[in-house]
Amino acid sequence: MDASAPTIAARNFDAEFDADGVAPALLDWYDRHARVLPWRAAPGTQAQDFGSNWPYRVWLSEVMLQQTTVAAVIPYFTEFTRRWPTIGALAAAEDGDVMAAWAGLGYYARARNLLACARAVAAAGGAFPDSEDGLRGLPGLGAYTAAAVAAIAFGRRAVVVDANVERVVSRLFAIGEPLPGARTAIRTATDTITPEARAGDFAQAMMDLGSSICVPRSPRCLLCPLSAQCRAGRSGMPEAYPVKAAKKARPERRGRAFWIERDGSVWLVRRPDKGMLGGMRALPDDGWNARADGAASPPIDGQWRSAGAVAHGFTHFSLTLELMVHSRVEGREMGADGEWWPIARIAEAGLPTVFARAAQLALADPGTREGGGRHEHR
Ligand code: SF4
Repeated sequence: MDASAPTIAARNFDAEFDADGVAPALLDWYDRHARVLPWRAAPGTQAQDFGSNWPYRVWLSEVMLQQTTVAAVIPYFTEFTRRWPTIGALAAAEDGDVMAAWAGLGYYARARNLLACARAVAAAGGAFPDSEDGLRGLPGLGAYTAAAVAAIAFGRRAVVVDANVERVVSRLFAIGEPLPGARTAIRTATDTITPEARAGDFAQAMMDLGSSICVPRSPRCLLCPLSAQCRAGRSGMPEAYPVKAAKKARPERRGRAFWIERDGSVWLVRRPDKGMLGGMRALPDDGWNARADGAASPPIDGQWRSAGAVAHGFTHFSLTLELMVHSRVEGREMGADGEWWPIARIAEAGLPTVFARAAQLALADPGTREGGGRHEHR
């Protein structure tokens, strides 16, 4: 175990802050409390001591952890490394097999990047670059992943800032600037406390501290190894950090969805691949989007009446979606851009939430159920 005192590279961020005291206190805590994880070397050891395959495991875990929790990642990591124990094995895998194994871990774009990266490393001889800059050149490796792999797999000093570290550091230094603007200050502050020695352990210790002690709500300051240094902890208001920018009022949009029912089926369309809820099955609508209310006419002529409205919050706007029900549908000719879907199986249509709630409105609507939509049984 490397017991040498870590040295601090940058000291001019906050002269009054005890930057030198952070790494020794944190590493001492990590030596006793580090989580045991399948991709992790024991505290105080260099990950590459475990063989040339270790960077592969560190990289794989970091890519998986970008989207989900440690507990959720462990079975995926175990299965991936069982099926593809080396970077070469993963590089040679069928795309479809990797995509299927990734299901449940979030965006498939990351799985595609994972394969592209594995193939790039395999094509270059099978060894990962051992510097942050070299790692940045690989497909899908952003600033965070490159820094984390450089530090954890290769022991390089790198400033590793994930969401946990962001929270811990903004509290340690009581950084009053709101996120996301505070990210530069948080990174600079993290730089001042990152040691030259044991940089990988330091990064993992910060992550562990953020996940077990310096948690978002009710941080456990009494148990924290950094309580002597921590400004937010001393202030008695650690939860005030990181400061969040006041939320901008979300624009309010209005739109209409159209319920066209015939013979126990409802007309559903496939949304365009590009744009909101792209490629998903939905009720036809009037073209509402994040920037404008809907304005398009109903897909067929006839008498329409309102069956109520649902409110739905999207990330960048709020939508009030009014459900319009057709009073009498004759014939089943609707054009090529949709399908008649059995109402009894509406739950299997995979409707996005806002349309699923609009559909519930129609199903609960007495006018629709009692013949307002002229549901004719033959
Ligand atoms: S003292 Fe409290 S707020 Fe400060 S780092 Fe520790 S747990 Fe977080």
